[in-house]
Amino acid sequence: MAKADVSLAHLFRVFTKPEHDDSTLAKIERHLSDNVSDFLSQHVVTKKTSLEDIEQDFSSASVPDSPEFVSTHAEDLLDKLVAHSVNTYSPTFIGHMTSALPYFHLPLSKLMVGLNQNLVKIETSKAFTPLERQTLGMLHNLIYEQDDEFYERYLHSASHALGAFCSGGTIANITALWVARNLLLGADGEFSGVSKAGLVAAYRHYNIDNLGIMSSRRGHYSLGKTVDVLGIGRDNMLSIDSPKQVLTPEQALAKGKEYQAQGNKLLAIIGIAGTTETGHVDPLSELADVAKELGCWFHVDAAWGGATLFSSTYRHKLAGIEKADSVTIDAHKQMYVPMGAGMTIFKDPTASSAVRHHAQYILREGSKDLGATTLEGSRNGMAMMVYSSFHILGRRGYELLIDRSIEQAQSFAAMIDEHDSFELMTSPMLSLLTYRLRPKVLQDLASLDSRVQHAINQQLDELTVSIQKQQREAGKSFVSRTRIEIEQYKNKPVTVFRVVLANPLTSEDDLKAILKEQLELATSHDIWQRLSSDSYAKTA
Ligand SMILES: *Cc1c(COP(=O)(O)O)cnc(C)c1O
Repeated sequence: MAKADVSLAHLFRVFTKPEHDDSTLAKIERHLSDNVSDFLSQHVVTKKTSLEDIEQDFSSASVPDSPEFVSTHAEDLLDKLVAHSVNTYSPTFIGHMTSALPYFHLPLSKLMVGLNQNLVKIETSKAFTPLERQTLGMLHNLIYEQDDEFYERYLHSASHALGAFCSGGTIANITALWVARNLLLGADGEFSGVSKAGLVAAYRHYNIDNLGIMSSRRGHYSLGKTVDVLGIGRDNMLSIDSPKQVLTPEQALAKGKEYQAQGNKLLAIIGIAGTTETGHVDPLSELADVAKELGCWFHVDAAWGGATLFSSTYRHKLAGIEKADSVTIDAHKQMYVPMGAGMTIFKDPTASSAVRHHAQYILREGSKDLGATTLEGSRNGMAMMVYSSFHILGRRGYELLIDRSIEQAQSFAAMIDEHDSFELMTSPMLSLLTYRLRPKVLQDLASLDSRVQHAINQQLDELTVSIQKQQREAGKSFVSRTRIEIEQYKNKPVTVFRVVLANPLTSEDDLKAILKEQLELATSHDIWQRLSSDSYAKTA
């Protein structure tokens, strides 16, 4: 293999302009700019299906000693990395919240990397700081719809923040609850506040045994991480059983009162606008009222569903979101922005002062440095991608995309529901749904004796897992799977296929083909054959 010189002259060339032999990387670049999905279909070949085989290509733990030509390395990347990546652009990849992106993100990401701004402080970002603040303001407006005077006053104010931009929904949730925690356990008389004095002193001062947060069982696992890093403890994550997939206000109120009667304090109720597993939306308006009654913060995790606010037809599904103290939205999900764009938005522009940090050389008092109120430090100019998408697609463009996803989920659900060999497990409230394969003879499974029902469900679970894996390995299409409690099966968990419809290029024919493939795989499966026999249904 050709090795480059170990010389400063060579390294200078790497920093300034491509070396002579740049053909591979230049070709990759041209192909990507020309047509990303074509590039991916051509180069993502998934020849190796086992992760262990792929690991062989990444087995050395030493940094290579000598420099390599960029082109040589680019070939290596194509071979080892790109070839065994996941083609998230494929219209039949409908198992996760990651999908195709509009083409303009490629040249824009070059601009972002080219400028290499650091949004932690004005001194390394300048115009990117007002841009990020404006973008957060646009999201604030989408949720809270305040008047012009409000935005004139707060958009660029050094002592306020309408939100915090971060790498994703996890950090957004942590940021929101960090603010909530510091506000709840703030300075009071002699007590300097949790931020300075720590949690033990705060519990003592406020005379509370534990702080907790509450969500339905469908809450995202990032909430578990949140209670962990905030020092509240995972035992104080109150996950409420939710066979209907949503947190009911009555349950929330009862559990909250019970928790507080034991000497604890509920920090926040989390309403979910689009659960990760089924896309359900909690009754946000009622939960906001419960939070008020319990005297706690109300946070809405709209990481997935937040973009629904663009749709005048479906916006009402998130009614009550405007009562939230804070809202998480991921732009890298239904806003079609590359990975790494999350936001938390605060109703009250002063809220984030509860986490404000200053340093001597940056983030000085009175500066507009964004880093003073973000959990992360150095951050890239990702906000530009959100800003540009808002301009290029516009509210109306987003509305069309969102409406299409929701309506496609509805028609896919109808297709499944009408099919003898499938069972729709959760109907789409937004653009997610769950279902499974189920032989026609078991149509009345839900009304059978619970022991028999459970035994059959266990076999169906095994079938679902097996078919999902086979389909993934065949590589033509991908749906994911999860386990959820289902009301019609006496709130016991069952394994289901999970589908997320977000790729605008997915067609009805793609969806039909996915069901067809699943049914074909099932008919040759012994569990399916056993369960399909009439005699089995009769003994059941
Ligand atoms: C995706 C998601 C998250 C986590 O977001 P990341 O961007 O993966 O960190 C949190 N909550 C919900 C509801 C989500 O869908």
